[in-house]
Amino acid sequence: MDRNEAARIDELARRHLWMHFTRLESYVDAPISIIERGEGAYVFDTNGKRYFDGLAGLFVVMVGHGRKELAEAAAKQAEKLAFFPEWGYAHPMAAELAARIATGAPGDLNRVFFTNGGGSAVESAWKLARAYFKATGEPGRTKIIGRHLAYHGTTMGALSITGVPAIRETYAPLVPGARHSANTNRYRCTFCSKSDSCNLMCANDIEEIIEREGPDTIAAFIAEPLQNTGGCFPPPPGYWQEVREICDRHGILLISDEVICAFGRLGHMYGSDRYGYQPDIITVAKGLTSGYAPLGAMLVSDKLVEPFLRDRRAFLHGFTYGAHPVACAVAMANLDIMESEDLYGNVLANESYFYDSLKGLMDIPIVGDVRGAGYFYGLELVKNRETKET
Ligand code: PLP
Repeated sequence: MDRNEAARIDELARRHLWMHFTRLESYVDAPISIIERGEGAYVFDTNGKRYFDGLAGLFVVMVGHGRKELAEAAAKQAEKLAFFPEWGYAHPMAAELAARIATGAPGDLNRVFFTNGGGSAVESAWKLARAYFKATGEPGRTKIIGRHLAYHGTTMGALSITGVPAIRETYAPLVPGARHSANTNRYRCTFCSKSDSCNLMCANDIEEIIEREGPDTIAAFIAEPLQNTGGCFPPPPGYWQEVREICDRHGILLISDEVICAFGRLGHMYGSDRYGYQPDIITVAKGLTSGYAPLGAMLVSDKLVEPFLRDRRAFLHGFTYGAHPVACAVAMANLDIMESEDLYGNVLANESYFYDSLKGLMDIPIVGDVRGAGYFYGLELVKNRETKET
């Protein structure tokens, strides 16, 4: 793009565009980086400057930028059927995709409810948990437990589950019934950061909340396999098995929010595969289409679907663009690439090298900790390693 055209676009963006999670003030007198094009692991701005896209968009572009196969799949589907609602109807791509991602899912997560993205999948999961317990004679089970600092989206339900104070405060009062338990930040854990190993008090904390609130008031516990916000917190060994047992002991549904951790980020189709636990619901988005079209989903166990197969009952919830045909076609082509190029195998083959290389940065004094798994790592920067001052 020539300089004049780049300046014109910058002007339009600064005058009319409201970027998300952005202080607009920063751009009153300064240009915005306007990303025009992508190629592999790189994106280019309107001035031709190249950036390494280490975050894959926002943990989204799993197969890389500029994949023609995905653009072609979108065009082909748009020509054939660009849109038709999934309310009481289906279309071939939605059926194919539902079967494909359910077949790859752990256990009996055989039913797929498509959404617009991650937050709407989380929102759907909480609503389904409530609807399921209403249908099965436990209407008091309405609450949900998330974890401190965890991010699950910005719609009011998902935001209420989100445990990041700064992005919640402005919108209070939030949806009643969300509680927050300890996360698995071992570097700063109040229970175990000073011991040689984790004592799983982070899991016990969930049970304490359940007992305090009353088990028959809790519908679900939700967490990411490996938590992103806060700075990449992998689960300690045994954590997920303990969480599954706690949920079973108290009749609570386990929701695995895999909006980031599914489709290869941890070297598997699902993050729960990586850590060997069985969720009742998995929420996904991002890597499902590698971002070439917006799409999310929740995968649901047979047990949760059962009440909705009888008694004229319906899950009265949905989105105009749920299971959008173009997005479903893109997702199918995206999964084809993941399989034909063995992207999960590639992550598993390279993750140790990746981690060891990052560990090498520990010789820089401000690197306090390096942690993560698969292709998902965080470096925690500190002023002082002894005090861990941020
Ligand atoms: N859940 C998790 C774990 C996420 O990381 C995100 C977004 O980053 C969301 C939910 C919300 O997804 P979306 O932005 O598509 O609504």
